[in-house]
Amino acid sequence: MGDIILTINAGSSSVKFSAQEIAEGKLTPLASGLIDGIGGKATFSARKSGGEKTHFVLDQTHAAVDHKMALTAVLDWMEDQLPGANVVGVGHRVVHGGPNYAQPVLVTTETFKDLKALEPLAPLHQPYNLAGVEAAIHAFPHAAQVACFDTAFHRKHPFIADTFALPRQYYDEGVRRYGFHGLSYEFIHRILRYEEPVLARGKVIVAHLGNGASLCAINAGRSVASTMGFTALDGLPMGTRCGQLDPGVVLYLMSEKKMSAAEITDLLYKNSGLKGMSGISNDMRDLEASTEQSAKDAIDYFVSRVRREIGGLSAVLGGLDCIVLTGGIGENAVNIRRAILKDMEWFGIQIDEDANARNERVISEKGSPTVALILKTDEERMIAAHTAELLGLKQPIVPAIS
Ligand code: AMP
Repeated sequence: MGDIILTINAGSSSVKFSAQEIAEGKLTPLASGLIDGIGGKATFSARKSGGEKTHFVLDQTHAAVDHKMALTAVLDWMEDQLPGANVVGVGHRVVHGGPNYAQPVLVTTETFKDLKALEPLAPLHQPYNLAGVEAAIHAFPHAAQVACFDTAFHRKHPFIADTFALPRQYYDEGVRRYGFHGLSYEFIHRILRYEEPVLARGKVIVAHLGNGASLCAINAGRSVASTMGFTALDGLPMGTRCGQLDPGVVLYLMSEKKMSAAEITDLLYKNSGLKGMSGISNDMRDLEASTEQSAKDAIDYFVSRVRREIGGLSAVLGGLDCIVLTGGIGENAVNIRRAILKDMEWFGIQIDEDANARNERVISEKGSPTVALILKTDEERMIAAHTAELLGLKQPIVPAIS
């Protein structure tokens, strides 16, 4: 076995990983896994590509499992299952790169300090992403550590797409619309560039519709606007997050309901969106299966906000050549896709109902002014590609955006 890139996506209570081999200028997925329940009863599950799943409870006789123990478990499993694997680089998903990081970077003492300073901008993610980096330095001390940012793809937005209508001082202090899901958008755009080069040079909206959801407007390969803002709360309603909200609601919750910042955070991040509206679940499949009116209302609201944002971003782009649907909902939810794209002929989207029902790659009619596609996103692969590229290894997936 040769050189391996490991990708790490560390959250508050879980660490996702994947191992990809670099051979003949290509990345080949070798294994992936998840350590869940960090801080409590932690479990380890992993699978080699095409192999059986390993699943066990991590030993916590001496202390609760933390990120370091999780990464040590990954190392042990890899030594056992992928003998001879030489981990040359570890690519980390880091949610926030602030205003300055527009590219993946090698983690040095200096960059780590910079990224630590961004923790207040993403308190629910950044500290855990960085705990993952520290843990990986401990477990893989000879590998290069690379930080790949969810915000980086959006860093070339024009000022008006990044600012709020607040006094300029706040923008200068970093209160900006950063946009997220950038690794997914970048991956999709690379695939598009490879498979549909003419469309990729045009005006494109990518709809990342999963448990987290946002839309991104891309013009000639560059992100020009996104529905997400200062935090990953803005824009579309999501599994548990509220999406766009009048800031007056937050003021009301504080002044009239006497809710604390922690309580409001909990409400907006964990108990709103599909889950909050339906009172049933954050999972779109559960809502589609339900006969409750509240489930139908949550779906209708989700669909109507996606349609509204497609309109808004098309106006920003000055037209629309292609719309790509991705994420768990975008890739699989036939009825939701139909509801989003139907009755849009006036707008230039003619959905092909049969192709949509069959989950085909192209789901618009031949001759539709706007081409609608389903493409599968793969953020892990994007992180691995970035890591390999930064380390000067050969082009691992499709060509980089120039
Ligand atoms: P992700 O965060 O990208 O994994 O997407 C998770 C979301 O995709 C959840 O809301 C799932 O219910 C939804 N999803 C996955 N498969 C389907 C499906 N076949 N039909 C409807 N929703 C789906």
